[in-house]
Amino acid sequence: MFETLQALPADPILGLSVAYREDPNPDKVDLGVGVYKTEQGQTPVLSSVIAAQNRLVATEQTKAYQGPVGSEGFNVALQQLILSDDPALQQRAATLQSPGGCGALRLGAELIREINPQATIWVSTPTWANHIPLLGSAGLKLQEYPYYDPASQSVNFDAMVEVLKTVPAGDVVLLHGCCHNPCGTDLTLEQWQQLADMARQQGFTPFVDLAYQGFGDGIEEDAAGLRLLAKQLPEMLIASSCSKNFGLYRERTGAITVVSATAEASNNARSHLMKVARGIYSMPPAHGALLVEEILTGDLKQQWQQDVAEMRERIHSLRLLLANALADAGDFSFIPQQKGMFSFLGLSPEQVGRLKTEHSVYMVDSSRINIAGVNSGNIDYLAEAIRKVL
Ligand code: PMP
Repeated sequence: MFETLQALPADPILGLSVAYREDPNPDKVDLGVGVYKTEQGQTPVLSSVIAAQNRLVATEQTKAYQGPVGSEGFNVALQQLILSDDPALQQRAATLQSPGGCGALRLGAELIREINPQATIWVSTPTWANHIPLLGSAGLKLQEYPYYDPASQSVNFDAMVEVLKTVPAGDVVLLHGCCHNPCGTDLTLEQWQQLADMARQQGFTPFVDLAYQGFGDGIEEDAAGLRLLAKQLPEMLIASSCSKNFGLYRERTGAITVVSATAEASNNARSHLMKVARGIYSMPPAHGALLVEEILTGDLKQQWQQDVAEMRERIHSLRLLLANALADAGDFSFIPQQKGMFSFLGLSPEQVGRLKTEHSVYMVDSSRINIAGVNSGNIDYLAEAIRKVL
């Protein structure tokens, strides 16, 4: 059976990490995979997570199955983090723990297909590369709407609206909650409002991917757009991830949230999500969700807010540092205006290739960089390498 298969090429982003690891150049710079890094180039366990983990190890009584629902304490706490503690919203929402944001995206896509197999999911151009297989593998059709304008390094909202005007009732529009991956350019609240009006008039359903809450303007601020939709629209879906803001990448911690007109409709939808989960991976891993629950429901919450603020502020200061270091190489003033870990440098694939082969600077072919890979030790080398290929 297996001899018919050809080996597939490595995933472009994950393949970049392997190439970086194998590069002997001591000056090499990794701006590829989207993980947060400290000044020392480490991806640390957050101090709040270490504290929660110590408590969990001391008190955990069992590793027995939790079932497809995961931890209900986590589900409630995460829902509040995303939607705020507005009781009217909470009542209309139902949340289910998932294996990371990826698991949540896939569960959402499976639910949409079950309800409407003809539905198309509209994704931004560009979008995070893994959105395509995660949503497409559920059997849904995908279409694109314009989003990032490379010439102005900002959102081309008019073009976006022009295409989204054609989205019919029953289709789904995937939106990045904050810190757009890969372009770092977000919608304003006025633009979220315009999208809410269009969704209500046309009858499409927003599906918000919230993978970087707290990395843009703040934990509450970064959820403002999706909360606006949730308050004003009868229905939406939210896929959320604890990978970045809790630093729990490998623990696979996230959730899918359904917001409906009534509590009953949301709970019914959640029962279908549980059936889907049972048929794919049965139940989510427990450890990361128990840590998040411990943090969000007790005295560690403030420490976690500080952990997140530290990451956010560091990323912002790196954006300023990079723009300054490149000031004589062109106009890079857009970098500090963008949010989260990613920005496009605006280089050609050929220039990106030269950065890799001639200078051991690794980034995705589109010239998307992970800002958190910059530090005071590599900034001068990096800026000089970029200057040389420009
Ligand atoms: N959505 C976006 C936009 C992302 O960048 C990521 C992680 N890179 C995810 C979702 C999923 O994250 P995870 O499955 O690791 O929680």
